[in-house]
Amino acid sequence: MGLLETLRQIPLVDHHAHSLLRAHPATLDEFRGLFSESADSRQWRHVATAVSYRRGIEQLAAKLGCEATEEAVLGFRLAAAPADYAARLLRATGTEELYLDDGFPPPEVAFSVEEMSRIAECAARPVLRIERVAEEALAEGADPPALRDRVREEVAGARSRGYVGLKTIAAYRTGLAVARASGEEAEEALAAAGARLEAKPLVDLVLCEALEANAADPLPVQVHAGFGDADLLLPAANPALLKPLIERFRETPFVLLHCYPYVREAGWLAHVYPNVFFDVSLTIPHVARPAEMLRQALELAPVSKLMYASDAARAPELFFLGALRWREALADVLPELPGDSEAGARAILRENARALYGVEPA
Ligand SMILES: [Zn+2]
Repeated sequence: MGLLETLRQIPLVDHHAHSLLRAHPATLDEFRGLFSESADSRQWRHVATAVSYRRGIEQLAAKLGCEATEEAVLGFRLAAAPADYAARLLRATGTEELYLDDGFPPPEVAFSVEEMSRIAECAARPVLRIERVAEEALAEGADPPALRDRVREEVAGARSRGYVGLKTIAAYRTGLAVARASGEEAEEALAAAGARLEAKPLVDLVLCEALEANAADPLPVQVHAGFGDADLLLPAANPALLKPLIERFRETPFVLLHCYPYVREAGWLAHVYPNVFFDVSLTIPHVARPAEMLRQALELAPVSKLMYASDAARAPELFFLGALRWREALADVLPELPGDSEAGARAILRENARALYGVEPA
């Protein structure tokens, strides 16, 4: 059996993903938009000419047994119920554990964690998004002391409510250069900002409160790093900016998500800090050269620090393509490196995450 065939047999722990939308896209452009980080519908027709999308259409068509055109793939999708279509693609990934960020998509348009477990035929568990908690508290009119209490309580009780990790999107708000904000600064920021989590002292305060509440019995903390949608100021999402936080919370495992184009910076952090782990989710499947990203990731970082995730959101096609391309890229890259390729792949696809998130042996 070739290495790629062997890797297809290894069950995946997808430690960071999102739920699927309950409804099909209404138009071809909306379908294209699901493969893009752009929320601007004028951008979506350009998706049709992107390398990763074109290859994706070929790979999906091969799986579904339809013509390799976007119209044919969309037609196949629309002929099935959304959950049935999703089950076909998610079950083909061989995922055994699926961890879902509870901050996106909005629950009213997405499948629940329990429904995702049934669709994917695997264990599904939630990840608590810190900023979701804070935004809900602010929307209910919380002042700084109430906001702080709410964040601390939710985080401290997360493990007992079945959460397997925390997630922060500080990168999307005010960036990863998180400062130690005083309560006074937060109070001023809150007065100025109204009910929104926008001002830097407030965003930083919320994250620091959450990390302090988590420190006694820490859950892994997933950190959005690198590219994403247009909400982001990319240089502020460089994971190297996290250094002071990583050193302050040295017993807390930080898992850097996505990382592109700062894969090397993330690899350096994982090289020097025992409490730093990372993935190249979202980067794979979106970049045209996934193997190159793995090469960069493993230039400095030990194999035991890198883990698989899809970061798939909204569309089942992304779960399928993420799993397919991670395995293809690992099968390309690991034989170039010293060590047992199959053992390395097993660590990255499954064992590293099982150890970090404390999954009981099957
Ligand atoms: Zn995500």
